[in-house]
Amino acid sequence: DRVTIRRALLSVSDKTGLIDLAKALSERGVELLSTGGTAKAIREAGLAVKDVSDVTGFPEIMDGRVKTLHPNVHGGLLAIRDDADHRGAMDEHGIGAIDLAIINLYPFEEVRAAGGEYRLTVENIDIGGPAMVRASAKNHAYVSIVVDPSDYAPLLAQMAENDGATTYAFRQRLAGKAFARTAAYDAAISGWFAETLEVDAPDYRAFGGKLAAVMRYGENPHQSAGFYADGTGRPGVATATQLQGKTLSYNNINDTDAAFELVAEFEPETTAAVAIIKHANPCGVAEGETLVDAYRKALRCDPVSAFGGIVALNRALDAEVAEEIVKVFTEVIIAPDASEDAKAIIAAKKNLRLLLTGGLPDAAARGAMVKSVGGGLLVQDRDFGRIDDLDLKVVTKRAPSEQEMADLRFAFRVAKHVKSNAIVYVKDGATVGVGAGQMSRVDSARIAARKSADAAEAAGLSEPLSKGSVVASDAFFPFADGLLSAVEAGATAVIQPGGSMRDDEVIAAADENGIAMVMTGMRHFRH
Ligand code: 5GP
Repeated sequence: DRVTIRRALLSVSDKTGLIDLAKALSERGVELLSTGGTAKAIREAGLAVKDVSDVTGFPEIMDGRVKTLHPNVHGGLLAIRDDADHRGAMDEHGIGAIDLAIINLYPFEEVRAAGGEYRLTVENIDIGGPAMVRASAKNHAYVSIVVDPSDYAPLLAQMAENDGATTYAFRQRLAGKAFARTAAYDAAISGWFAETLEVDAPDYRAFGGKLAAVMRYGENPHQSAGFYADGTGRPGVATATQLQGKTLSYNNINDTDAAFELVAEFEPETTAAVAIIKHANPCGVAEGETLVDAYRKALRCDPVSAFGGIVALNRALDAEVAEEIVKVFTEVIIAPDASEDAKAIIAAKKNLRLLLTGGLPDAAARGAMVKSVGGGLLVQDRDFGRIDDLDLKVVTKRAPSEQEMADLRFAFRVAKHVKSNAIVYVKDGATVGVGAGQMSRVDSARIAARKSADAAEAAGLSEPLSKGSVVASDAFFPFADGLLSAVEAGATAVIQPGGSMRDDEVIAAADENGIAMVMTGMRHFRH
């Protein structure tokens, strides 16, 4: 998988590090080809370099708009070296292989950021550069493509290590980076058009992806909105088949996604799980033997909020659970599949949307999460952390009972999907109180407890549902007060990441109250 570099094409707008690189390549005996300005710079440094126009037999024309767009260049980059046909074409047309491409593009982004005049900005849309970058990256089996001067040193190190060659793994990494560069470059260009033309609905300044749907409006009626498919085909709200009901709104998609990602935490082979979501937070989550059992338990947590909610299931919708769901006004149901009987029951509710995804997303998979901030994008891994993979540490004198432990695990998985600060009370595999999105942890704990009292009252019970429950916190308790509030609500066991300066105080408070506490070492902030 090693390819020795014999011939390199250099064509760069940003000439940082160019001469040092050209020198090092020359010393290795690599033949250098180059375009106008780049060739001039290399020649001025006293190095031998061949003009691309000699390779193409064609001058650079139209102010450089057409320099490298020629079969002698693209054939040299794209040829499969050990394919007889490709070799034949090379021989017949006198095309020489190019093993290394050093390319960076016209500075479109810089010109745009500097508020460049319209025609100047257009002129800075590079055409031949991206074509060569993409050709080289596609043919990474043979070609090394470097688009960033910070990769010159690693390239030379790689060649030094491999006798003037590069390895497949190295070229593959370079190719990935090259396509990321051309994707970002094109996104910057389309973003400039969007801004220049002041297009309204929808704003296509997405970071990537393909426009798959245009919503009537965004979170509010004065905001335009669109959905961009990322092409991963990951089962989810965005790739689901909608069987009935009105088209989904922006908020529907956002909430349905939250619901489905939550139930995907629970393996359908071992447990039936149901989540009811409002405003991207769960107002009830439960697992059970059957979906209908789980749904009833989930609904009991907060039946008031469940009105107009979104229901997600981790197994195929069956008739029993469908009968229960249609009793409550529900906006959307999302499930991997549905039985024919269940579909018929849902069909009677014309406005209820039913989405089928054909599978569950892998909750442990990586993948990028994007959030736009003033002046850019924040990108991070999705929260793929799962406590199954961690050693849970019992830190109190009393260890949780088996039932408590099962509920603690369940509660922490749910807490991962609740906006911070998140406090989740759980009893017998069902949430019985959820406190979400508060600025203080103790407020979230109080709200969750109050909701569990309300739910008990609505069900005609005398004791709050949180009595005898366990509780999960998405992040550590900074003080003992949040824990004491949970004790007051009747919780008997706690799961939390730990790591506070006052862990000792919190553990002591738990011991004083006979609480069992488990630390995960993993935090699940969700903002
Ligand atoms: P130079 O400074 O060598 O004259 O030009 C280098 C720049 O030209 C690089 O940024 C490269 O991406 C770009 N380039 C190379 N070939 C072509 C082409 O055929 N058309 C256009 N528009 N740009 C090219």
